[in-house]
Amino acid sequence: MKLVRFDGGRIGVHDGTLVHDIGEALGGDDRGAFPPVAMVRLIAAFDRLRPDIEALLASGRAPSVPAASAGLLAPLPWPNKLMAYPVNYIDHAKEMNSTGYAHVQGYFLKANSSLSGPGEPIVLPALPGREIHHECELALVIGREGRDIPAERAREHIFGLSCLMDITIRGPEERVFRKSYDSFTPMGPWIITMDEVRGIDSLGMKLWVNGEMRQSANTRDLLVGIEEMIVVASSASTLYPGDIIATGTPAGVGPIRGGDTVVIEIEQVGRMSLPVVQGKGGANRVFLRPPAGA
Ligand code: MN
Repeated sequence: MKLVRFDGGRIGVHDGTLVHDIGEALGGDDRGAFPPVAMVRLIAAFDRLRPDIEALLASGRAPSVPAASAGLLAPLPWPNKLMAYPVNYIDHAKEMNSTGYAHVQGYFLKANSSLSGPGEPIVLPALPGREIHHECELALVIGREGRDIPAERAREHIFGLSCLMDITIRGPEERVFRKSYDSFTPMGPWIITMDEVRGIDSLGMKLWVNGEMRQSANTRDLLVGIEEMIVVASSASTLYPGDIIATGTPAGVGPIRGGDTVVIEIEQVGRMSLPVVQGKGGANRVFLRPPAGA
């Protein structure tokens, strides 16, 4: 099942052509709601709700809209946490001259408010002289609560997958701050549930800027594998339904600029195309200083 949020907070199933509103089966959605946690609730109760969702879809009563005009939003805008693994591909470590590989770092956090959706632009802050980079990543969505999850149980905790970009201002400042501007974590175009994924050990992923391929990699080349990321994260923190793990980017990161179009595609997961817009705001005293070495 490909789960989406759309049109101001409705929850839907995407069938490739149409988006079917399943709010009736869920007992509500995110329209007018704060915080917008309908998708978290759906994920937490998915096993129980699934028969009702399928019955609603089969009945033909679910209101449908063409996917192209559905107004797709961030599928999961309010997780308990948005975790990300740094430097999780050797080739990216080499291009960054980094020795801080993921297996000796653990995860870092991004602000949940940096999450955006497939129908929204990446808005660059006005920071003259600073490079803002794309990072192409596979997102894991946690489905089942757990702490100290052993490797052999890790897959049971994965609800689904999504495409994710970890947009990053390069520089020596606090990583969380450089990665947490609004719209710096586009995710989508949907969350695909694991029953529709044939395997996650060799998923190819690619990213293009203005039609030019910039990143191409495969999850088989991860330094910290998918199960191990769940083991490590859950050794420190209880994982909750709806938590997101960004699994790290391969080589080929590079700058994006206003007017660019960035496309991400992950095998068996999906594809989304986002415009990049140069915003006017976002400057602050932190980024007034040029980065060291510049
Ligand atoms: Mn990253």
